[in-house]
Amino acid sequence: MTYDYARDHEHELSAEYLYASDAEVLGIYDSDDALQVDVAVICPECSETLRLEATVDKVTSSGTELPLDEDYYD
Ligand SMILES: [Zn+2]
Repeated sequence: MTYDYARDHEHELSAEYLYASDAEVLGIYDSDDALQVDVAVICPECSETLRLEATVDKVTSSGTELPLDEDYYD
């Protein structure tokens, strides 16, 4: 994989190659009328750290406690 490829490609992401245990929340904030959560993940193709900007559309009880332990991800 060349440097140019890593720089130019569009980081098309698939959940198949993304792992919650590798992600970190960068921030949670109000954006217009919605709550926004930004998450850092590693691009599976080029290993660049990417910022996912997600809008929260539902809030429910998680059924777990923070911090999550390793078993949560199995
Ligand atoms: Zn990439």
